[in-house]
Amino acid sequence: MKKISILIPAYNEEDVLETLYHRLGKLANDIKSYEFEFLFADDGSTDDTLKMIKEYAETDDRIGYISLSRNFGKETAMIAGFDHVTGDAMVIIDADLQDPPELIPRMIKLWEEGYDDVYARRNIREGETWFKMFTANGYYWLLNKMTKTQLIKIPQNTGDFRLLDRRCIEALKQLRESERYTKGMYSWIGYKKKEITYNRSPRLAGEIKQNYRKLTNLAFDGITSFSTTPLRISTFLGIIVSVIAFIYLIYIIIKSAMFGDAVAGYPSMMAVVLFLGGVQLLSLGVIGEYIGRIFKESKDRPLYFIEESHVAKNTKKTR
Ligand code: UDP
Ligand code: MG
Repeated sequence: MKKISILIPAYNEEDVLETLYHRLGKLANDIKSYEFEFLFADDGSTDDTLKMIKEYAETDDRIGYISLSRNFGKETAMIAGFDHVTGDAMVIIDADLQDPPELIPRMIKLWEEGYDDVYARRNIREGETWFKMFTANGYYWLLNKMTKTQLIKIPQNTGDFRLLDRRCIEALKQLRESERYTKGMYSWIGYKKKEITYNRSPRLAGEIKQNYRKLTNLAFDGITSFSTTPLRISTFLGIIVSVIAFIYLIYIIIKSAMFGDAVAGYPSMMAVVLFLGGVQLLSLGVIGEYIGRIFKESKDRPLYFIEESHVAKNTKKTR
């Protein structure tokens, strides 16, 4: 019997865990033709999340968990999960039930038809502000413009809710960068992809864990880890500004040679100096972003540490 692993990254999700467990449990009971594994990646929760998972694991032999030594963020919690799932395929699902587990049978069916990566695309985002929607739209437009040269396309309105075949899992496990943008990695590894759509509902309970600061950082990581276009833009900006400055220089020389130098033009001089200063700082900042990445990656640290873990009892072989 083939085994499906459900990977659930969870950070302080005590409010939703009970419902999630029942929805998933019911689903797995309904699908008799597959074996299931529920792997919780507890991302250093400080509430009762881990305690609850442990309780479930005592009576349910499909449940396994890994508990990270601190809060590492969802991206890291996911790679920790990839390292530990044992199924022939894996479904990643948020703990807050924003992604309907009821979509999983459809995903499995498409997987059986030969797709390696069945990803869910949100139709509408209920309960999300127009600001978030606006920034998200703008961001994806920019991201895809910038990653065009890499020949990959990162689809908008998709998240981590997807089914991945074992070979995708093995591929993702090899991408060990520390500043992770998993959403881009799914595209980067390739393999046969299939899109399905669904309506995303608001978070069931508890607070949103990925605040704007985390999302903004993730947005920057998305661009800097999948594109060097900002560096290219800096170069072009530098060239354009230099050319304009050079033309202006010739103009000034000719002008003062023909008409003499009246030592005027303070405003225009300040404008040029300030503008150039701005362009230089911006370019330095862009370069800095990439150097920062090189610095972080060159440390080559392990991505996470595990405080404690438990392998689902129904697991016969570990990979
Ligand atoms: N999450 C995590 N570590 C974190 C933040 C979030 O493992 O540091 C998990 C969280 O428990 C949830 C999922 O990532 O299962 C998505 O988080 P959330 O719903 O807060 O963000 P959204 O993606 O819906 O904006
Ligand atoms: Mg959520």
